[in-house]
Amino acid sequence: MIFYGTNGALVRTAPLPGVACPACAAPESLQLSVFSRYAHIYWIPLFPYSKPSVVQCAHCQQAWDTKGTPAALQPAVADLKKQTRAPWWHWSGLGLIALLIAWGAVAATRDARANKAYLAAPRAGDIYTVHSPGDSTKYSLLKVLSAKGNTVELVANEYEIDNRHPLSELNSPEKYSKEPFSMTQFELQIMQNKDQIIDVDRPE
Ligand SMILES: [Zn+2]
Repeated sequence: MIFYGTNGALVRTAPLPGVACPACAAPESLQLSVFSRYAHIYWIPLFPYSKPSVVQCAHCQQAWDTKGTPAALQPAVADLKKQTRAPWWHWSGLGLIALLIAWGAVAATRDARANKAYLAAPRAGDIYTVHSPGDSTKYSLLKVLSAKGNTVELVANEYEIDNRHPLSELNSPEKYSKEPFSMTQFELQIMQNKDQIIDVDRPE
């Protein structure tokens, strides 16, 4: 269950200059309070979506909400509202989401770059996450035994799983074939370009 809803906070109270109270005609006695309403999820404000207001007369105590604001007061009210911004923290949820997305994009770019660099210079111990041939929902591993010149010696994992991240489940020595085979670096590049190699891990 996700808790979400709306909430509001008082942003500003200011005198409404230049207009008399429509109820008691007292001059310079009106005060405008501007609120900010925002959507929240788990009580973290996501974004503000409206600025309701209340005008109150300090003299006769009469008050008008947004909808009930007399036409004579509306220009002055609109003016002050325009100058009133929702506080930054009413945006904190959206800001957080934007940060997470940006961070994810940076991490993905970094990972893709590392994969390219690792594939261009294979090293014993490198592990490639591969699509099983013929069935793109199955994933398995290839392990580099050695790399000499343009030739890379590999062993294939003998298992495959439905998970894009098979490393933790499949990467134990007894799960690899005992029979190595070789590929050229060029062939490995082609596999990567065809998205048959989707990740490269290099143990530190
Ligand atoms: Zn009044």
